[in-house]
Order: sequence, then C-alpha cells, then structure tokens
Amino acid sequence: MECIFCNILKGKIPSKQVYRDENYYAFEDINPQAPVHILVVPIKHIPTVNDLTETDKDLISEMFLLAKKIAKEKGIAESGYRLVLNCQKDAGQVIYHIHLHIIGGRAMKWPPG
Ligand code: AMP
Ligand code: ZN
Repeated sequence: MECIFCNILKGKIPSKQVYRDENYYAFEDINPQAPVHILVVPIKHIPTVNDLTETDKDLISEMFLLAKKIAKEKGIAESGYRLVLNCQKDAGQVIYHIHLHIIGGRAMKWPPG
C-alpha cells in the first residue's frame, strides 16, 4: 500500500498521536501552519471527498464531532479554528486519503490563497 496515511495508521511511518479509536486516528501535522495543526484521518482509506458514499454518512459526521472535541482539548474552541478538507489538486490536496485539518492558535485570513 503506497498511501502515506495508511502507513502512518499502521505505525509504519512515525507520527505524533493526538487521538485514536477503531475508526479514526488524529496526529500532529508534520509541517504545521499554525500553533495547533492536527489531522483527523478515518482509518478507512477513502481517497477524496468525491469518493464518499451514503455508507460514509456516519463516518464523516463523527469526524466533525471528533474535531470539535480535539479543538476543545487543545484550548482553541473559544478563540476559534479552521477545519479544512482539501479535495483534488486545485484545493491543494497532496495526500489522497481524506483528512480533516484542525488549524488554530492564531488569527487567520479569509479568503484562503
Ligand atoms: P493536504 O494538502 O490536504 O493533502 O494535506 C496533507 C497534509 O499532510 C499536509 O499538511 C502535510 O504537512 C501533512 N503531512 C504529510 N506527510 C505527513 C507525515 N508523515 N506526518 C504528518 N503530517 C504529514
Ligand atoms: Zn490510505
């Protein structure tokens, strides 16, 4: 399996764990764009948002609830944070295993670049 995130999930590539259960793994982004930058990754390999189906409904909604919980634990719930899910090249997706970025700890600009 060539997918970097699948290899991280299996422990073949080291990462800094933030959270783990049977459906998700969350870890520190290797190239943080803010004081808090965590990736929430479903264990299930789904390449992009375009590949989501009805069967992924619960998986995706629970991913947001988990992101909310992690943001609170990291102390950025009140100050604010951005949840980003890049889809395909124009969005800047580089790893084709869906992941939700939790980015916070500083003020951010809008619109994104
Ligand atoms: P995206 O552009 O949405 O596909 O985001 C991919 C993210 O994965 C980037 O923010 C990278 O810094 C991050 N990343 C790539 N390789 C690793 C790794 N080995 N450990 C942690 N984060 C990584
Ligand atoms: Zn994968």
